[in-house]
Amino acid sequence: MAERVVIIGSGPAGCAAAIYAARATLEPLMIEGEWTQENFNAGRPPLGQLMITTEVENYPGFPSGNLESYLQNSIRERKAMLPPHSGEGVSGPELMELMRQQASNFGTRFMQKDVEEVDVSSHPFRLKVSGGEEIEALSVIIATGARANYLGLESEEKFKNLGVSACAVCDGALPRFRDQPLVVVGGGDSAMEEATFLTNFASKVYIVHRRDTFRASRIMAQRAVEHPGIEVRWNSTVEEVLGNDTDGVTGVRIRSTVDETQREVLDVAGYFAAIGHTPNTDFLKDKFDLNGKGYITWTVAGRTNTSVDGVFAAGDCADDYYRQAITAAGTGCMAALDAERWLASKGFE
Ligand code: NAP
Repeated sequence: MAERVVIIGSGPAGCAAAIYAARATLEPLMIEGEWTQENFNAGRPPLGQLMITTEVENYPGFPSGNLESYLQNSIRERKAMLPPHSGEGVSGPELMELMRQQASNFGTRFMQKDVEEVDVSSHPFRLKVSGGEEIEALSVIIATGARANYLGLESEEKFKNLGVSACAVCDGALPRFRDQPLVVVGGGDSAMEEATFLTNFASKVYIVHRRDTFRASRIMAQRAVEHPGIEVRWNSTVEEVLGNDTDGVTGVRIRSTVDETQREVLDVAGYFAAIGHTPNTDFLKDKFDLNGKGYITWTVAGRTNTSVDGVFAAGDCADDYYRQAITAAGTGCMAALDAERWLASKGFE
């Protein structure tokens, strides 16, 4: 029998969709991805990108630090109404396990497979998962996320979570980066935004860009270039991230892109890659409307509809702009409501 709602992906968008769909008694099936090292290394682990970050300080509801003391001090007047609580702020993996548990509590079923093929040429839709099994679905929510691009250096891999990051907004305020020199790689709006954001915490921010002009919009580039806390290394590329097991990142070695013999070591405590993201949509090509960068196109303004009636998209696979856990969760909720209403409109119980 065909599933009523199949959710592909298990990050914040997928989990929020599952919570809403399960509470609507649709008994969703979440295909959460395989727990393989390969999926982790490729930046697309089950439960999404938060599984490869550290503390999450910007997800509403989880103030950092000791939650107990926060509850004691910040909302003193209502303390008597609150149940006892103890514990620290939340980490990315913890937040995701909590979301998954919440989805499970309401009856979501989970399948630890990767979706390899989607056939939307007829209805019910057919999904082929790793191992060859086929699943039929009346409606589908795609929430496969996106992965940050890195330069592909071995040393980047080695120091991930030890000073290497691809998200300044997520990680920039962590203690390891405070009052330290940091480096951002890239020349687009993200690099400008991340570098400018990092000046709030860092003692100095370097931007390393491979050309002599930025791709970023003029205003954002200008803001970065004129910022007293930012220094640009033009025509340069990072050759190696330097560091050790105790301190994590301690520097980067950069090389000139115009004169290969020119090298320089920048002493930094953090390295932020801002060279774009790649949506996890390869298996959807030629079946869905994707934009020029491969992101799924929402075809109805303010809704999560895709170009295939009955298939909805949520989170970073359809968003190359905000890319936050909270926005992904928000669109996951929207997709579940859209799927629920679509099923009802077609008369599916
Ligand atoms: P992007 O515009 O594609 O820029 C990527 C940058 O990374 C480019 O400067 C590129 O260099 C560099 N790069 C790519 N591969 C590289 C490599 N292998 N080695 C060295 N450098 C490499 O990506 P983005 O900055 O993430 O922006 C994505 C979209 O989001 C854009 O449309 C942007 O306008 C938007 N955005 C907007 C805002 C905002 O308005 N507040 C903030 C962030 C992002 P080249 O220039 O040499 O190609």
